[in-house]
Formats: sequence, structure tokens, C-alpha cells
Amino acid sequence: MKNILILGGTADARQLAGKLAGRFDVTLSLAGRTENPVAQGVPVRVGGFGGAEGLAAYLRDNRVDLLIDATHPYAAHISANAAKAAAVANVPAIALRRPAWERQPGDRWTSVESASEAVGLLGARPRRVFLALGRQELLPFEAASQHAYLIRSVDPVEPPLAVPDATYILARGPFSEAGDRALLETHGIDAIVSKNSGGQATYGKIAAARALGVEVFIIRRPPLPDLPSGADVDETVRLADHALAP
Ligand code: NAP
Repeated sequence: MKNILILGGTADARQLAGKLAGRFDVTLSLAGRTENPVAQGVPVRVGGFGGAEGLAAYLRDNRVDLLIDATHPYAAHISANAAKAAAVANVPAIALRRPAWERQPGDRWTSVESASEAVGLLGARPRRVFLALGRQELLPFEAASQHAYLIRSVDPVEPPLAVPDATYILARGPFSEAGDRALLETHGIDAIVSKNSGGQATYGKIAAARALGVEVFIIRRPPLPDLPSGADVDETVRLADHALAP
């Protein structure tokens, strides 16, 4: 059977692996950030490769026939490494690139380059801010300790942010619009800072914000290398089948 390496860390990657397993030898690669990742259903390897060169060596040593980048759209380093390594090792590569959410009528979006830019734009007046961000992106908010923060993450934020008013919720998506609307209302949220992840699993807060008139600071997506891409799991399965057709 042909070997596929999927760069994962997303629900899409897990589903993709499940759909390709059986017909192909599939290995899923995780960075190792999440303390208790959900079961992936296929063999998993964990940890960085050591840059593009390390990944290229892995592709050669393990006789990988197809590399699939199914990482999160904000994981720009590994995506850049994937494209470079595939070229160096002469291994075909495809990607699962979920389309970004588009602004809808009624959305109160401000597009920002980074979490730090959002911190500045929140302003001096104390606000109640929902941060739907990973641990790494939370630190800039310590510079704006006048706001009350509601922080939702998969793993505990350790150490907690050095701000006087922060509430932490541990939860793993998918999240519904009704659930997120209740959350925004219960905590009196008047601003959200979010990535533009695309897909339905984390769209609840965006739809709820629209319904409630809550302002959303959307962090722009980083540029990613141009690989043949599927917009969802099924389209990426078809691309993989095509790439590995005898
Ligand atoms: P990143 O900045 O693009 O990558 C940093 C380094 O982590 C890479 O250079 C690589 O190390 C290692 N790495 C990343 N993804 C890997 C993978 N799937 N398998 C093996 N090594 C990996 O990535 P990130 O933004 O920190 O994201 C890390 C992981 O979390 C990714 O798997 C991503 O899909 C997932 N994730 C990220 C976000 C997000 O918002 N960034 C959200 C949800 C899930 P080496 O250079 O040593 O190979």
C-alpha cells in the first residue's frame, strides 16, 4: 500500500485520515501541543521534524508517497515547511485548505493583522472581551488589563494571564450558535477576538455575535504556500486518490 503522511492537529485531518485509512498506509503527524489529543484512529507520530530539512528527511526515510498538509490555517510555519520539504524530497503534496468565513450583512468585523493590533483597537474604555484564541496569542492582552476577559481554550492557560479579571472555560469544539449566544449573553460580552478558521465547528460565536451586534476583531489569515488544495475532507480525499492513482 502507498504511504501517506498527514500533517494534522485539526478535526479535518483526523477525519481525512479516517477516510483514507484502509486503502492507504496513513500516518498522522501532531506537533504535540495539546495535552490530551483525541484518539486519531490511525498511527500517530508526535513532535516537530526539525524544519523543512527534517521533514524532507522523514519523507525520504519513510518512503512517503503523498504528503497532505491538513494543519490549521494559522499554522504557517509547518505549511511552509511542508511545501519546501515536498519539493526537496520530490514527493507530491496536497493540502486541505478550508475557505475563510466571509463577512455577512450585520457582521461588525474589524480585520486585524495580529492579536496585538486587536489589543490596541479595543481602546482604553474597559470592555468585556471573549478571546477565542490559542495560548500563544493570549499574552498581548496582558498589556490591556482594564478589560474583563472570557477565555476559552482546549488546554488550561498556564500560567494564567496577568490581568485582574479573566474567566477561563475549558472546552473543545464544535460549538453551536445557540450555546455561544448564551455564553456571550451570560458574560455580557461586547467584543470578540477570533481567527478566521473557516468551517462550521467554531462559527457559532461569529453567528451569535452578528445576532447580538457584538463587535468582532478578526485576525487575518497568514499567507500559505500554493499547493493543490481541497476545500473540505471529501474534496481532499478525491485529490489524494487522483495523486496516487496507478
Ligand atoms: P506552526 O507555527 O506552523 O509550527 C511550528 C512548528 O511546530 C513547526 O515548524 C514544526 O516544527 C512543528 N509542527 C507544527 N505542526 C506540526 C505537525 N502537524 N506535525 C509535526 N510538527 C508540527 O504551528 P502552530 O501554529 O504552532 O500549530 C501547531 C499545531 O497545532 C499544528 O498541528 C496545527 O494544525 C494545530 N493547530 C494550530 C492552531 C493555530 O491557531 N495555530 C489552531 C488549531 C490547531 P519543526 O519545524 O521542528 O518540524
